[in-house]
Amino acid sequence: MAAAKSGKNVPPVRSVRQRHFDNPFSDYNGQPLPDASEYIEQALSLMQDIYSYYTVFPNRPRRDLYIGGAGVAYGCVRLSDRLPRQSADKELVLDLAVRIIDALLQELNSIPLKAPGVIGGDFGVYVAAAIVYAKAGRTEDAENALKEFVGSTSGVERMTSQGSSADEFMTGKCGYLAAFMELWKTFPAHPSLLEVPVPAIINSVIESGKQYSHARGFHSKCPLMYFHLGADYIGAAHGLSSVLQILLCFPHVLKAHPENLKEIKASIDYLATCQKCNGNFGAVFNTIDQEENELVQWCHGAPGVIMLFAKAYLVWKDCKYDDVCRLCADVIWKKGLLKKGPGLCHGISGTAYAFLLMYRLTNDSVYLYRATCFADIMFQQNVRELSRLPDNPYS
Ligand SMILES: [Zn+2]
Repeated sequence: MAAAKSGKNVPPVRSVRQRHFDNPFSDYNGQPLPDASEYIEQALSLMQDIYSYYTVFPNRPRRDLYIGGAGVAYGCVRLSDRLPRQSADKELVLDLAVRIIDALLQELNSIPLKAPGVIGGDFGVYVAAAIVYAKAGRTEDAENALKEFVGSTSGVERMTSQGSSADEFMTGKCGYLAAFMELWKTFPAHPSLLEVPVPAIINSVIESGKQYSHARGFHSKCPLMYFHLGADYIGAAHGLSSVLQILLCFPHVLKAHPENLKEIKASIDYLATCQKCNGNFGAVFNTIDQEENELVQWCHGAPGVIMLFAKAYLVWKDCKYDDVCRLCADVIWKKGLLKKGPGLCHGISGTAYAFLLMYRLTNDSVYLYRATCFADIMFQQNVRELSRLPDNPYS
């Protein structure tokens, strides 16, 4: 058995035909858990590789938060937040973020037609830029980036997109709302942010969901429904679950229309009935996935949908939502060692994140233990050899 950074023995995985490796770990039995600082060292070593890569290739074809430079810069900020003040590592990580953002903004400013959307579109670059520059003390540049983002939100409530209800997280209205929340943490009550038409965007997302649900004949069961690329997705990247989760983050807006909150809750309750016996959720409503081939990843399946039910539990404190989360966590433990690499969207760090969420929600050490198992196995030679190389390994 190989030893991980945490000192835990990591059993080897076997090559199997499914999308995931069989989980070789036994479940938690009360053993001591490694300290988070042991993983920071590993993250820094990875960041060194990324730093070298971006030094050679500062401009990559993708700019976005999802698989482009803006996402790397944002990741650097999150890592630097965990490092001691004035440490050389912190400076290095922030320096990388600034260099990437400088290059991206130069490129973006020369493009007249920007790709709409925040997570998978061009406007996430301004979100990352505002946060990165604020952390680096470049206040004026941070203000300018913030204004560019706020400018991009004008008219978002009327956004349309071919083959999509334009409400989803990756490129639709909910991505703008998520970015607004993230920026609020760095720039609380900033006058520019107060110009973002948050209530109008939220009400348009709800209206759009009602209309589509009516059109599909679902209104009595699930009052809000959305479509993207012609499909009624459930999962976090494009589907109903992340739309509902983001709506719940704006209680002050929902308070003005109590009937909307009722419809959101009814939709969450309907979604709970779609959970399979093994704890997973299908990718699309009313389709049957074969269990041996089902998707258990952040974009489609339990690792993303769990976030909605965790939020619902925090809002209503109803144990039925906690039960949904625990079932999700169990299927993720069983099937979350994905063979698609270490990424967040459809890789092992995305499934491990669900355990960190559950640990924060329940304070139950079993979930922290499961997260450390996934972190330990991700970069084992045996796992790397048997995994697919991601399309954008440095994103
Ligand atoms: Zn994915």
